[in-house]
Amino acid sequence: MSETRNVIIIGSGPAGYTAAVYAARANLNPLVFEGAVTAGGALMNTTEVENFPGFRDGIQGPALMDEMRAQAERFGAELVTDDVIEVDLTGEVKVVKTEEGTFTAKAVILAMGSGYKKLGIPDEDRLSGHGVSWCATCDGFFFREQHIAVVGGGDSAVEEATFLSRFGSKVSLIVRRDELRASKIMAERAFADPKIDIVWNSAIETIHGDDKLSGLTLKDTVTGETRELDATGLFIAIGHDPRSELLPGQVDLDDEGYVLVQERSTRTNLEGVFACGDLVDHTYRQAITAAGSGCAAALDAERYLAAKE
Ligand code: FAD
Repeated sequence: MSETRNVIIIGSGPAGYTAAVYAARANLNPLVFEGAVTAGGALMNTTEVENFPGFRDGIQGPALMDEMRAQAERFGAELVTDDVIEVDLTGEVKVVKTEEGTFTAKAVILAMGSGYKKLGIPDEDRLSGHGVSWCATCDGFFFREQHIAVVGGGDSAVEEATFLSRFGSKVSLIVRRDELRASKIMAERAFADPKIDIVWNSAIETIHGDDKLSGLTLKDTVTGETRELDATGLFIAIGHDPRSELLPGQVDLDDEGYVLVQERSTRTNLEGVFACGDLVDHTYRQAITAAGSGCAAALDAERYLAAKE
């Protein structure tokens, strides 16, 4: 086993890399596990990012993440492109395991993000960033005056549909059942919006398009009949899966698996364990908010370590 580090950071999205920049600049010599396949995080799967401050002409998602990575490295963060497969965070010394070895640290920052749930239909991945999106705040602007479809029946789907009706010529909200799961107030807002058409009892069977989305085939969940929808934007809003699978039994999670932190901080229930980014965030889920909370996690860890000296 190698020497005990000051800080290990798990995750390499905006939260993890920002925590790494701050921890490295505080001379904490952080060791960052970036993940094997998904290093760089969610923005590696997108094209243009137009709302990250500092890039007035926008920046490609992977280019933004390369910059963050290089910045963390420049200040001495040690980056390892491996998955963490097991942790024991309950003791004074935190233990983190990968396939390659066992590592220890006085503090750990959890920044594993969360995945958007997918529909699991053909061409969903191929057309991601080319008409198919999981984030209205990020991509709504690209669909001005177009017919946009939103799939999902909960609060976030209704919120996305209401937000997108500012941009689209029409928004079709595709709902599997004959009622919305969304709260009454959200549902009433959607019913009252003249641009939103709710397509009840429907599921997306296939999506079409060569370079970009050109339409959807819907299947009626009651009769089995199919019909075409000429939408050129599709927003999938069927939920998220926080990547907290390493943590149950150690770090307190909420009912949906998000890490619980003490408000106005990134502290978890365990001393010396901090969490940030989309792993804790139901609400904002943006690159800049993830980066902000990664900064907060590094500052919280720095103060924790200083108090122990
Ligand atoms: P993530 O970016 O998800 O990073 C999590 C990291 O944890 C990954 O690097 C992964 O490899 C690592 N990890 C997970 N498990 C392990 C493990 N066991 N061991 C090691 N590493 C692990 N936001 C915007 O502000 N603007 C946009 O334009 C925008 N567009 C988007 C487009 C798409 C297609 C998507 C999916 C999201 C978009 N977002 C956008 C949202 C934004 O990407 C997220 O809010 C942000 O990336 C969250 O950052 P994070 O660091 O918390 O997590």
